[in-house]
Amino acid sequence: MKCTSCDKISFYILCKTCQDTILKPNFYKKELEKDFFVYSFYDYKDLEDLIQSKYYFHGDRVFNTLAKLSFKKFADNFKFTYPILAIPIDDHTRHDFSQTAILTRHLKNPYIKPIYNTLKSTNTVKYAGKDLDFRQKNSRKFKYTGPKIVML
Ligand SMILES: [Zn+2]
Repeated sequence: MKCTSCDKISFYILCKTCQDTILKPNFYKKELEKDFFVYSFYDYKDLEDLIQSKYYFHGDRVFNTLAKLSFKKFADNFKFTYPILAIPIDDHTRHDFSQTAILTRHLKNPYIKPIYNTLKSTNTVKYAGKDLDFRQKNSRKFKYTGPKIVML
């Protein structure tokens, strides 16, 4: 098959050369509010084309590879004082698989427990290609049905 990123012949959906170079994550941690952190691994522009694979049958393999390179490495080094739930956003399978469930599964470690099918949108409005104004005016209206969350 061909590497989805560079088009060279590869045994993998993303070749080892791409995995070791342009897909090597950069781990960022940003504190938005006191004790509320956002972690990120890539610039959106660097993965924009690969993220579009969520609409195609091979997308599950792309997301599994990206998750192993980033989410799993993050989880392998993450410790915390309390147990944490990892909740995928809207992990439906309208496209044969759920990219958010795949990413969340790779966060599992002794401190992080993934729980699935608990945070679902009740409005299926499409955001692809829409601007921030449209997104703010057309809420997805999420409904959480998981275990009660206690803020410590
Ligand atoms: Zn490649």
